[in-house]
Amino acid sequence: MDDTSQELASEQEARDVAEAAREDDWTQPSFVRELFLGRFRYDLIHPHPPDDPAEIERARPFMEKLRAFLEQYPSDEIDRTGHIPEDLVQELREMGAFGIKIPKEYGGLGLSQMSYIRAMSLVTSKDGSLTALLSAHQSIGLPQPLKLFGSEAQKEQFMPRLAKGAISAFALTEVDAGSDPANMRTTATPTEDGTHYIINGEKLWCTNGTRAELLVVMARTPDAMVKGKARKQITAFIVDTATPGVSVKHRCHFMGLNAIENGVIKFENVKVPAENILWGEGKGLKLALVTLNTGRLTLPASAAGGAKMMLAMSRTWARDRVQWGAPIGKHEAIAQKLASMAAYTFAMDAVAELSSALADRGEYDIRLEAAIAKMYNTEAGWRIVDDALQIRGGRGYETASSLEARGEIPFPIERAMRDFRINLIFEGSSEIMRLFIAREAVDHHFKTAFDVVNPRASKDERMAALGRSAKFYPTWYASRWLGAGRFKSYGAPGKLAGHLRYVERTTRKLGRAIFHAMVRLGPKLEKRQMVLFRAVDIGAELFAMAAAVSRAQMLAKRGDKNAIHLADLFCREARLRVADSFRNLYGKNDGPLYKTAQRLMAGEFEWLERGTIGLAHGPVKSGGVPKGAPLVEEEAAGVTGG
Ligand SMILES: Cc1cc2nc3c(=O)[nH]c(=O)nc-3n(C[C@H](O)[C@H](O)[C@H](O)COP(=O)(O)OP(=O)(O)OC[C@H]3O[C@@H](n4cnc5c(N)ncnc54)[C@H](O)[C@@H]3O)c2cc1C
Repeated sequence: MDDTSQELASEQEARDVAEAAREDDWTQPSFVRELFLGRFRYDLIHPHPPDDPAEIERARPFMEKLRAFLEQYPSDEIDRTGHIPEDLVQELREMGAFGIKIPKEYGGLGLSQMSYIRAMSLVTSKDGSLTALLSAHQSIGLPQPLKLFGSEAQKEQFMPRLAKGAISAFALTEVDAGSDPANMRTTATPTEDGTHYIINGEKLWCTNGTRAELLVVMARTPDAMVKGKARKQITAFIVDTATPGVSVKHRCHFMGLNAIENGVIKFENVKVPAENILWGEGKGLKLALVTLNTGRLTLPASAAGGAKMMLAMSRTWARDRVQWGAPIGKHEAIAQKLASMAAYTFAMDAVAELSSALADRGEYDIRLEAAIAKMYNTEAGWRIVDDALQIRGGRGYETASSLEARGEIPFPIERAMRDFRINLIFEGSSEIMRLFIAREAVDHHFKTAFDVVNPRASKDERMAALGRSAKFYPTWYASRWLGAGRFKSYGAPGKLAGHLRYVERTTRKLGRAIFHAMVRLGPKLEKRQMVLFRAVDIGAELFAMAAAVSRAQMLAKRGDKNAIHLADLFCREARLRVADSFRNLYGKNDGPLYKTAQRLMAGEFEWLERGTIGLAHGPVKSGGVPKGAPLVEEEAAGVTGG
């Protein structure tokens, strides 16, 4: 199979590839899935799974070594040189930092997901590039998919190497395949005898790729025929970078994470044994998605670790910096930022730890919680970094080394800002996370009732959907109005019980709102991303509120009553954000905004750019419009506003 065509996949093709890779069954419970169906199942997340004292003891020696290592770690120097010296990487190898979750039988530390994210949170509080090295290896690199999908032989062959610190990487992205894997062009062609595959292509932005020994490479294998139509197959391969034909074409440099070992990896007739296929032919994209379901839990914890450092720096600076006759933290504008940072940090910690605790507990479908945690914590973390920089004023913008040279305390907020921003883009951008969550949020309605309004459904399909709807909706809809939680205390202290009652009734309101949107917009709902995104944002706030309250309840039981105060403040603020999203659910200006963007792209407002130096180059190189797609798509997108 040789894909020489440079034409991009159509929207339908992109959707088909994504749908084929989607896990479409829900056999395990999920609080968030229930939430989008308008059902508040606090029992699924509360009581918060407690810390396991035995696990904490098991992790202690490693955590102590890691802390001591980080205390000496020369972050600013490494940020300047853009390179983590080999002796430091070796020290990490020796303490087991590359095999935190790898089972002991293969030479790893055999620690839990919770211990792993706590280690990553600690690392991020010191250095983002180091998190990238350890996390690209363990969250998405080879250990995780190998643990989930590897055969016994593959585990025996690769796990011990990985545990000892053979760095690995995950190679999915290509120039034309960013959020949309349907455009993947790297191919893996079987040899005639079927014993090997020949990989050709280029992978972009592969973290650790410039230093890795082992890669998980997604490549297109020959199309499969599904219902008489050719369907693209994406397969995951384990590739040793010592194999002839693998080379680093370019090391990439970014606005931050200066020491990230990231590059363009080229594959030229790379011969890989068929035994190196992970899971099975055609299952590569699903493997990537499932790997990311838990892999994605690292970034929320790492964002929370970063937020805690920002809070520590902002708190001390706001207390000690005097301007206009008072510490700046006494001026209301700064005080509000500080309080909001603390409330958000508490909720971020709650979201990250709850999600990982549920993943460790098992018998729970974590994919929606993980996606919300990734989206919510990275966005909240970004606001926190921004606030921290503002609170530090000019010093926030100055580099740590320049501050140090002037004899001032070298808080590295400038570096944190550069390092943090990417979190909203990689491992599923904020937009793609919202689309993913929205897809699952409407899934039940989609399966039950979509064919009623689907113009492409046959008469039989429509009748079947009507039958299903008649069975499900009367009871479900009526019970979304009648609250069961009005008088419940959920075992929470007064203030928090009130917030849980709010979450219960707002969950029902959200369930109704999503249903109403389906009825009102029918198939067009799919195109109304902003309506869906606002519903997702409401769901995310409700999940964060429930997580914060559950955590405060757990901490209060342990004697830490202060947590109730922060959970209460967080919930008060979250309620305002939820009310805003409901108020603007159908986005009065969505239509005009969409149409303006289309006209803008068509060049109608080019005059606005006059008086600038202009773009130095012609049209952008990558991408382009798929064949048959109009550039201005107002009607196709179904955005009519109101
Ligand atoms: C520092 C760094 C490290 C990385 N590490 C790795 C790695 O180790 N392995 C790997 O495989 N990849 C890696 N990536 C790639 C990363 O995952 C991608 O950048 C990401 O998937 C987004 O792809 P893209 O940048 O091409 O954006 P695009 O897909 O071109 O998207 C551009 C913008 O459009 C939005 N968008 C796209 N589609 C839609 C849609 N349907 N609806 C609404 N909005 C949409 C996106 O959210 C984004 O804001 C890395 C990238 C960077 C910068």
